[in-house]
Amino acid sequence: MTADLPVDAAWYRAQQIDPRLWLITEPRVHPIFSANMHLVLGRDADLLIDSGMGIAPLRPFVDPLRPDPARPLICLSTHTHVDHIGAVHEFDTRLVHPIEADELAAPAPYSLRTDGISDAFRNLFLEAGYEPLWPLLINAVPAPDYDVDSYVLRGAPPTGMVTEGDMIDLGDWQAEVLHLPGHSPGQVGLFHHDSGALFGADAIYDGPLIYDGPGMSLPDYARTLRRLRDLPVTVVHGGHDPCFGKQRLDEIVERYLARWQA
Ligand SMILES: [Zn+2]
Ligand SMILES: [Zn+2]
Repeated sequence: MTADLPVDAAWYRAQQIDPRLWLITEPRVHPIFSANMHLVLGRDADLLIDSGMGIAPLRPFVDPLRPDPARPLICLSTHTHVDHIGAVHEFDTRLVHPIEADELAAPAPYSLRTDGISDAFRNLFLEAGYEPLWPLLINAVPAPDYDVDSYVLRGAPPTGMVTEGDMIDLGDWQAEVLHLPGHSPGQVGLFHHDSGALFGADAIYDGPLIYDGPGMSLPDYARTLRRLRDLPVTVVHGGHDPCFGKQRLDEIVERYLARWQA
């Protein structure tokens, strides 16, 4: 069924953070499920970190941002929540941590309608600090004939695995894979040692952190936050919300560690 929603054909938005880094967002998705995608341009390959909800084709939006679309493009899924793997099937090289490999290949079904979301989840999101869910996860559709009930979370088998200590190498840009469990068991982030840039996924961002749901572990999350606090970070590009610096990172970590200790 087509929903009674406005059409927003410019589904994705891109913001250039620096000459080799783009932030891609889906502003028409509810804030809880509106994740950041980061495109890092490299000499020998480009890297896309996460792939959104998969509501509109992503690859045709990403390729024009790349100086040479014929160059290999690596899609790294930081973890397998719906808002981070939606368009993963559009990419030929698909990396994920082994713990979440099965989920990437065959994710649990998802609907854009929120009436199936349990009260427990609704409360979890509300208590975390998010606005109440809308009837749909979106407040616009990407095309006039878009059928919200046609949405499927497809997933795709990974073509490679990443674990703690691996390096993602784009030729002139290397980042270390950090295993950051807590929000999900196999979540990974990336640390670019040369600049101190941390791609923190859903382990850390400047908004309500989610630590209380299925597959989540508070002790693991606390260890992950302490670890991130101790890194020589200069800037954090999180899985949601705008980027921020080391001082804000410390504030967020302290706030959550204090809350969990209480
Ligand atoms: Zn997320
Ligand atoms: Zn998540």
